[in-house]
Amino acid sequence: MALKTARFEFSLFGINTYVVYDPETRDCAIIDPGMMGIEEENAMRNFLKRENLTVRHLINTHLHIDHAVGDRFVSETYGVPLEAHKADEPLMQRILQQAEMFGIKEKVNVVDIGKYLEAGDRIKIGGGELEVIHVPGHSQGHIVLYDRADGCLYGGDVLFQGSIGRTDLPGGDYTQLVSGIKSKLLTLPDDTVVFPGHGEATTIGHEKAYNGFLR
Ligand SMILES: [Zn+2]
Ligand SMILES: [Zn+2]
Repeated sequence: MALKTARFEFSLFGINTYVVYDPETRDCAIIDPGMMGIEEENAMRNFLKRENLTVRHLINTHLHIDHAVGDRFVSETYGVPLEAHKADEPLMQRILQQAEMFGIKEKVNVVDIGKYLEAGDRIKIGGGELEVIHVPGHSQGHIVLYDRADGCLYGGDVLFQGSIGRTDLPGGDYTQLVSGIKSKLLTLPDDTVVFPGHGEATTIGHEKAYNGFLR
């Protein structure tokens, strides 16, 4: 059974939050919850209720504040642990510093990683699954979630339409990022749809042909 994807774009950081769900069992995973404040939380709450979805997984592609700001809301409201890669754990402290910088300190409570994800792990969502691919370079613990059966991936800040993730933040490494994208993502089928953490979706084939960072 094919999984379905719903995209939310939350405002402060212009972040894409994805709800990936099995339309038959109504199980879902929430990837990179970027909602902040009651209105955005209610948008998610209402969607899940209307669609009758049960949250089984809370997953962060990596631990930057824009992708993690809604972690506590999702974790506490739906009783699910945060799943992320261990190598991003040192960034937790930075999230709090960033929250202070943005003047939203009181709204950001980090959640500890409750389940470590590693390359090769498979995350079950009803009858479907996401495979964990580790692509460090934007951060050291950055993972991409690949739905092989449906030919799509949730890419966080690794690969964008015509661009790649920035590498000037702590844990960033340009050479590592480019080589990881080439060896682990551009080797996937050309028609694989990439759902990025910011901006519009693209495909592996399109980026292979036109992305100037990957020549
Ligand atoms: Zn990031
Ligand atoms: Zn981001």
